Amino acid sequence: MITKLSIYVNQEAYTYKRSFASAYKKMRRRKHMAARKIAFVDEAQCVACGSCIKVCPRGAIAVPNGITAVVDEEKCVGCGICAKACPASVISSREKQSENKRG
Ligand code: SF4
Ligand code: SF4
Repeated sequence: MITKLSIYVNQEAYTYKRSFASAYKKMRRRKHMAARKIAFVDEAQCVACGSCIKVCPRGAIAVPNGITAVVDEEKCVGCGICAKACPASVISSREKQSENKRG
């Protein structure tokens, strides 16, 4: 089966005269780096204003029951837009837990 990964590996190998193994490693590293960070809310400090919900392009943050903001790890892409919009400055970024588990 032809996948995006196999196309990329072939392009890297033939264009830059890389070995298939090093091209594959490079691709895996890029993919890992791109998805590593996500938003993290300090729930004790969140004032549940909802400003982050309005600006998130992925619909990845919500304030269930008006208590505190919660980030959906699967949807969040770590863009940081919500952190800039938060008036209480309680959003930071952290490592994505599921990426860590995959190694
Ligand atoms: S970091 Fe980006 S994608 Fe993630 S919750 Fe904030 S605005 Fe949404
Ligand atoms: S913008 Fe900040 S204070 Fe407001 S709900 Fe989101 S995380 Fe909480």
